[in-house]
Amino acid sequence: MKEIVIISGKGGTGKTSLVASFAYLAGNRVLADCDVDAADLHILAHPKARHEEDFSGGVKAVIDPKSCTECGECRQSCRYDAISEDFRVNRFRCEGCSVCYHVCPADAVRLEEGLNGRWFISDTRLGPMVHAALFPGEENSGKLVALVRNQAKVLARTEGLDLIIVDGAPGVGCPVISSITGADHVLVVTEPTLSGRHDMERALQLVRGFDIPASVVVNKWDVNPQVADSIEEYCRKSGVAFLGRIPYDAAVIAAMVNKRTIVENGDNGAARAIRSIWDKVIASILS
Ligand code: SF4
Ligand code: SF4
Repeated sequence: MKEIVIISGKGGTGKTSLVASFAYLAGNRVLADCDVDAADLHILAHPKARHEEDFSGGVKAVIDPKSCTECGECRQSCRYDAISEDFRVNRFRCEGCSVCYHVCPADAVRLEEGLNGRWFISDTRLGPMVHAALFPGEENSGKLVALVRNQAKVLARTEGLDLIIVDGAPGVGCPVISSITGADHVLVVTEPTLSGRHDMERALQLVRGFDIPASVVVNKWDVNPQVADSIEEYCRKSGVAFLGRIPYDAAVIAAMVNKRTIVENGDNGAARAIRSIWDKVIASILS
């Protein structure tokens, strides 16, 4: 079983549109949406959940006002400033470290499982998909990303499917690390801007740290051909496979409006570029 992860240095580079097109071209393969802070692959995949579960990223402290003597020990000890002057726990600040539980002389603190989001196994028109959503303001997305990837592997094994296509988290933080560790290939999608190039370099640095084969694609390359050239040059010099350029194409917007992938919305420049990139991705995974 192989796993390819598509990431970007930041959100809004067209990563999810590319993932959906790959899924369409790949046929019946497992999809994993690890962009749990802003999951949107479902918009193009049209999932029907066949299984769903709550996600708990850990415990949160709760103070029982009836037992609390207001001694202040917990408040003084909390490194996350999560306990208010009237000895209530702010659940968005609480990291569940349990210090307050241990220092409380009145046994007034209990630790409860926090409810941070939900995860799903769905049937979609692009193949079976594992996806999740964090509740607004919730954190611990690295843990949820790991859960989504693990469940995608279980699903692939159960259904006898040999490829998992992962829509990774953007950025270079904990969620993206959870998205890529142990993957067979990471494809970085970037845009031809100086900040896009900078974000791509940081993402590649991260991928290199995990010794995973990486490649790069420039989306909307013709918006700034000079920077697109410099990105290709950077890849060549640093030994990263440059898989191609996707042009700006009004057909992409039309596809999004119709909630379809770019490659199933007629023949156009962007669709042709994506097909050619997908052929290279498959060749590099199988090589
Ligand atoms: S569990 Fe830790 S972070 Fe949460 S309120 Fe207690 S001391 Fe603060
Ligand atoms: S340590 Fe316990 S008794 Fe003291 S203020 Fe905190 S919850 Fe109340």
